[in-house]
Amino acid sequence: MERSTIVRVHEGLHARPATRFVKLAKGFESDVEIVKDGKAVSAKSSVKLMLLAVKENQEVTVRANGADAIEAIEALIGYLENPRAGLDDENEAGDEGSEAAAPARKATPAAAPTDRTPELQGVAASEGVAIGPAFAHFPPEIEGPDRRLQADEIEGELKRFRGAVASVQARMDRTLAENNLSAGDRGIVAALRDIAADDSLTGEVERLIQGGEDAVSAVIAAAATIAADFSAVDDHYLNARADDVHAVGRQVCLALLGQDEVSLETIPQGAILIADDIGAWDLARAPLKRIGGVVCGHGGATSHIAIIARSHGIPAVLGLGDKINELRTAREVAIDGSAGHVIVDPDEAARADFARRVEAAAQERAGLKVFKNVTPTRADGTVIEVAANIGSLEEIEAAQEAGAMGVGLFRTELLFMRHMHLPSEEMQAETYSALARAFAPHPVIVRTLDIGGDKPIAGIEFPDEENPFLGWRGIRMCLDRPDIFKKQLRALLRAAVHGNIKVMLPMVSEIAEVTRTRALVEECAAELKTEGVPHAGFDLGVMIETPAAVLIAPALAKEVAFFSIGTNDLTQYIMAADRLNPTVAKLNDVTNPAVMSAIELTAKAGVAAGIMVGMCGEAAGRPDLIPIFIGMGLTELSMSPASIQRAKKTIAATAAEQ
Ligand code: PEP
Ligand code: MG
Repeated sequence: MERSTIVRVHEGLHARPATRFVKLAKGFESDVEIVKDGKAVSAKSSVKLMLLAVKENQEVTVRANGADAIEAIEALIGYLENPRAGLDDENEAGDEGSEAAAPARKATPAAAPTDRTPELQGVAASEGVAIGPAFAHFPPEIEGPDRRLQADEIEGELKRFRGAVASVQARMDRTLAENNLSAGDRGIVAALRDIAADDSLTGEVERLIQGGEDAVSAVIAAAATIAADFSAVDDHYLNARADDVHAVGRQVCLALLGQDEVSLETIPQGAILIADDIGAWDLARAPLKRIGGVVCGHGGATSHIAIIARSHGIPAVLGLGDKINELRTAREVAIDGSAGHVIVDPDEAARADFARRVEAAAQERAGLKVFKNVTPTRADGTVIEVAANIGSLEEIEAAQEAGAMGVGLFRTELLFMRHMHLPSEEMQAETYSALARAFAPHPVIVRTLDIGGDKPIAGIEFPDEENPFLGWRGIRMCLDRPDIFKKQLRALLRAAVHGNIKVMLPMVSEIAEVTRTRALVEECAAELKTEGVPHAGFDLGVMIETPAAVLIAPALAKEVAFFSIGTNDLTQYIMAADRLNPTVAKLNDVTNPAVMSAIELTAKAGVAAGIMVGMCGEAAGRPDLIPIFIGMGLTELSMSPASIQRAKKTIAATAAEQ
């Protein structure tokens, strides 16, 4: 029997709703198929279902054949007609695991110290000192042996493969039983677990093994084929599933090779994380409270790894380049994140020195606590807002604990990066509202989506660019994609009813970008009015982070309510020195007179026009520069929560001296 309906599931059967639908279908004995545009697939295969790319408002038919066909059709049609299907249970205690979400990782085993040069110099990326056990995190490249099987080996190889799949699933199930996953992580893992079990993958691997390929090569090949199918679907959300298929294939291969997966989840308390490169999102969802320090071959002082480390008060030395390989076998590591020093297997004297410094830093932190509730002012009594840079609601507590006077930069990228699909207007409105409520009456400055450059996200296809930092990023991308941008602007207008939301645009380089955005904001406000949705206006400001914006600052100041100087990008663009490239780290220096005069020009233009001039680049938290910035007329400084109390102390001391 069969029944047709129009799909009302919000955003269609993308990853999470698809896995839930499959789970429901699997609860029935009947064979169940879902048909769209004449194409029928099993409703018990997540991969096939996702590849069918069923979208909201499309017509589909559910077909069932078996003893419980009537009940199956009732339940599945009911699911498809529910707009919140697959989303309502996102906050449930997890019935899904987490490690699987990340590609498999393997820790390099520790070895005895050697007599190599013990001290290495990298980029000072997040201040503080730490000493702890080394946790090397170098995911291995997996290659199949590419061996043709003899006919009598095939049965054994199939068995080995099935065993590997079972062990991967068991590990996922174990993790789910123990873990407190965020809703976003849970959705990712749900999809991965289903992919591991899905007969699209297992069937293809078995077919290849039967044809004589060894299991590892077969898994790599099958995962590549299915991933290519996902990449080819005309749906941004589903394109991103290709990475999930690779991640699952990788796990199965590791199980076949008998290699243990060691993810960041297993990092011991106080350990120093050592990696060549690590994704911002991988670090963001790692157990950050346990990480004592970070050392990476890649990255610079303003890369996103550095920003995450700073916002959690984790010392970090990045940009070690190939020297990172000298740490692969370290047992213990001491790092000075302020000087960029790394000591491999420190001797007794160095250990004692670091232990003393760690203790002194803890005492300094304790001493700074008295500044938490201070409202710092200039000598003339003008309040200097010391606000927080954050990227997720999870960081609200740390910012409040530090004494943040609002949010000077809410980076919305993470909101887009951490989900398997572009966030809906509804969920964005909820997020921005939660922020506004948390910091009211202080202002909350939300930066519109700033992706491209070093921050690509799944769900938006970026062109291959020779120079992504000079390419399609920030406001440029948003204005070209009003479908994405308008959702964000509508969400911001809705959250603005709380009265303290301000909005700023990243990467502005000409006035037309502001006027075009303002026209879109007006269009969105008119739509919301017609729809009867409560909303309010907001102050619109711009980040000053391109040389062009500095040079047109006097004209720009007449168009906007505030400036916020983004020194991270401004420094790289003024100095023409890539912020991620350790080889030019010396040039990437905000104190260079060229950068300082760009900041001064901006401040002058803003002050002359009577608008607020703030700063949200990392330099805003530097005690050596804060007096200079205040002298230039800046009245807002936004920084990592870990820097807030010291900044307040510095401002108070500066005023007292004058
Ligand atoms: C900056 O460029 O200074 C800034 C704050 O933005 P981001 O670091 O996110 O590019
Ligand atoms: Mg920037």
